[in-house]
Amino acid sequence: TVRSAADTDSLHTTLGVLGGGQLGRMLVHAAQRMGYATVVLDPAPDSPAGQASHNQIVAAYDDQTGWDQLAEACDGLTTEFENVPAAALEYLAARKPVSPPAQAVAKAQDRIEEKRHFTACGVRCAPWLAVQTEADLEAAAALLPGILKTARMGYDGKGQAVCHTADELRQAWSNMGRVACVLEQKLALALECSVIVARGADGHIVNFQPQRNVHHGGILATTYAFEGAVPVALSDALVEATRRIAEGLEYVGVLCVEYFVLQDGSWVVNEMAPRPHNSGHYTIDACEHSQFDLQVRTTMNLPLVQPRHHSPSIMLNLLGDAWYRHGERIIPPWEAIQQLPGVQLHLYGKQDVKPGRKMGHVTLTAATVDELQDKAARVAGLL
Ligand code: ADP
Ligand code: MG
Repeated sequence: TVRSAADTDSLHTTLGVLGGGQLGRMLVHAAQRMGYATVVLDPAPDSPAGQASHNQIVAAYDDQTGWDQLAEACDGLTTEFENVPAAALEYLAARKPVSPPAQAVAKAQDRIEEKRHFTACGVRCAPWLAVQTEADLEAAAALLPGILKTARMGYDGKGQAVCHTADELRQAWSNMGRVACVLEQKLALALECSVIVARGADGHIVNFQPQRNVHHGGILATTYAFEGAVPVALSDALVEATRRIAEGLEYVGVLCVEYFVLQDGSWVVNEMAPRPHNSGHYTIDACEHSQFDLQVRTTMNLPLVQPRHHSPSIMLNLLGDAWYRHGERIIPPWEAIQQLPGVQLHLYGKQDVKPGRKMGHVTLTAATVDELQDKAARVAGLL
């Protein structure tokens, strides 16, 4: 497709986003700073991105009337929501320039397809088997202990069960409604990392340096993004693998790939997200160009540049739990936190506070890693 968006100036150009969550909100912020108008499609009238966007189309993700309105309203389109029906992206792509491509999103939506893609790119996964039949279930028991994961729709550790015995595995599959799953061997992780790349329609790829992630209960808690957070030799290998994965998909847009590093220093790929990622939120405050800036650039076919990471950084996720102390609702100590220099509070405008729900994040930056660690200890003590 020939893209018209980059040929005109951004004042008369609209970026469209499928999905109205926090990723869409930060994307809309980045687009607006560059002068674009924005339109968001989401079923919730008061969505985090809808609140910040010039326009929101309130429609279900599978509503064709909504797709038509969105295509009509925008010059370039992207998604912030990975479970958007691939059919929606195909439909829209016939009308306006869309990235990422529908086929790449379809692969990322299905753990079986995703792992096959990694293998085809020569990047190793944890030992795994597809579980779609009774016979698969029997065979998969050989990998135990493992984690049974639904092939589709899982996020933040949802749709997963740790299994130690064949009985537990059978029970877990039955609890999941015997839908298509993968069983992955449960590995002893030394660390978890992720790598974010952006690839343009011309095939040019830029990347952020790998960051180290700590999860609690399957949900990202903290991201460490500074030199030394991930060993250098490992970093190079992970960037190389991520570039291969993006190229193999003929990807256009921002792609994040998660990795597991094992106790012996070896590593495997975990999963990919065809969009900006929670582990890249620090790039807003710590890099010359954020992951959202790069997503705007790929969507509107603007040049990609290698972003320089200018400040050591740590990101702390704010889950709904921060609004509770001993079961009582509280207001977190924003004032005390914001008294510290180099601490940026990002709240997503979600009115409904629930434990485990991603409500916002805090990014810390400092001149040195020592200073950063001190600051992190102080903020953690306040939350
Ligand atoms: P989600 O789509 O919910 O992010 P993941 O597959 O990334 O699902 O799993 C969430 C977290 O669970 C991972 O970040 C990791 O901490 C843990 N985990 C997942 N798979 C494994 C595994 N095979 N071995 C050990 N830990 C795992
Ligand atoms: Mg994950």
